[in-house]
Amino acid sequence: MIRLLLALLITTTIFASQVERFRWENGETYLVFLEKHKLPIRPLYYNLDKDDQRLTEEMRAGIHGQILKSSDGEIQQLLLPLNDELQIHIYKDKNEYKFEAIPIISTTKIEAFATKIVSSPNYTIMKRTGSHKLAQIFVANFRHSLNFKNDIRNGDNLVMIYEQKYRLGKVFSMPILQAAMIEMRHKKHYIYLNDDKRYYDEKGHEVEGFLLARPVRGARISSYFTKRRWHPILHKWKAHLGIDYAAGRGTPIHAAGSGTISWAARMGTYGNLVKIRHADGYETRYAHMKSFRRGIYRGKHVKKGQVIGYVGTTGRSTGPHLHFELRKHGRAINPLRVVQVTTKKLKGKQYKAFKLLKKNYDESIALHLKNQTSFKRISKFESMCYVHSIDCKAPTQTQ
Ligand SMILES: [Zn+2]
Repeated sequence: MIRLLLALLITTTIFASQVERFRWENGETYLVFLEKHKLPIRPLYYNLDKDDQRLTEEMRAGIHGQILKSSDGEIQQLLLPLNDELQIHIYKDKNEYKFEAIPIISTTKIEAFATKIVSSPNYTIMKRTGSHKLAQIFVANFRHSLNFKNDIRNGDNLVMIYEQKYRLGKVFSMPILQAAMIEMRHKKHYIYLNDDKRYYDEKGHEVEGFLLARPVRGARISSYFTKRRWHPILHKWKAHLGIDYAAGRGTPIHAAGSGTISWAARMGTYGNLVKIRHADGYETRYAHMKSFRRGIYRGKHVKKGQVIGYVGTTGRSTGPHLHFELRKHGRAINPLRVVQVTTKKLKGKQYKAFKLLKKNYDESIALHLKNQTSFKRISKFESMCYVHSIDCKAPTQTQ
C-alpha cells in the first residue's frame, strides 16, 4: 500500500504541478500547522506514541516540506523533514490520515576546492562558494588549533575536501569536513576526519573541542545518537537525538561546557531537565535527572566540569541514565562529533591506520592545490526521488 502511495507521489511529481513546496514558518508548531491545514489532530498527534510525539516537536523554521493535493485541493500526502535523514510522512489511506516516520532519500557527494586566501579564511570561503556553512565548518574545525587572526598572509592557500548531501537536486544539510589544509605565512597546517569520527592534526593529535568528553564520569554509553534507526520490535523508524549514559542513581552529572543555565525544571518526557546555553549557539541538555544540585537554577553561570545534578530516571525513562543532548541553534547534533576528549594522541595500530588515511588525503590535497580546483556544485542528477521505491525512475534534472 505504501509503495503504491509513494509511486503516486512520484508520478504526480513527474506529471508536474500538484506537489507544492512550503517553508516552515518561524514559531509555528506542529499542532498549529495541522489546524491551519484542517488536518485531524487526534490520529496525527494525540494517538501517537510519546517518541513520535517528540519527533513532531523537532520541526524547525526554514525547513522545506512538500504537500500533495488532489485536484479539489484536499491534502493527500505531506512530507516534513525532521533532520537530514528522517521525515514525517502524513498520508491519506481510505479516508483516514496516517502518520509515519520514514527515511529521507539523499545523494552524498565528495567535493573539494582550493583557493588563495584574501583577508580571512571565513571571508574567502564565503566569497568563493557563497556558502556560510562551508565557511562555518572550516573555521569551527580549525579554531581549537590555529589562530587565524595574525598569521594569515594574502596569497596563502587553503584546500577543503568535504562531504555534501543533495536532496531533490538541491544542497541539503550541513556539509562534513573530511580534510583541510591552510597555509599560514606559507607554512601548511592540516586537519583530517579519522575513521573514529574525530578530527586530528598532521601529527595524529586530536583537535581539542570546547566540551567535556563525558558529562558522567566512567559511564557506559547505552544508546548512541542517531537521526534515524529502525526499531525492530515496534517496526518503525525512530530517532534518538542524544546519547544515553548508563550510571547508578545519584551519580554526579557535570556540565559539559561553561555556559548559562536556561532551564532547570521538569519538562514532559525529559523528566528533570537542565539546559545550558553555551557560546556560538550551542546548547546542552541533561535529562531524567534524579535531582538538581543546590544552587542550579535558571540564569546561573556554570563552569565546564561543574556538578549540576544527579543521575535518575524521571520522565520517560526505563532505568537510571543520563540522556545527554547537544544542539546548535536548536538543532540536535551528534555530541560525539563535537565533544572531544582532552587531546589524545593516536598510537600503535590506530596511528598506522590514520597515517594511511592521511597519506591519501595529502595526495588529494596536493593535487587540488596544484590544479587550483575551483568550487562547483554537482549539476546533474540521475534521479529525483522523494522516497525510496522501485518505481522511482524520475527524469534527469539539470539545475
Ligand atoms: Zn536517550
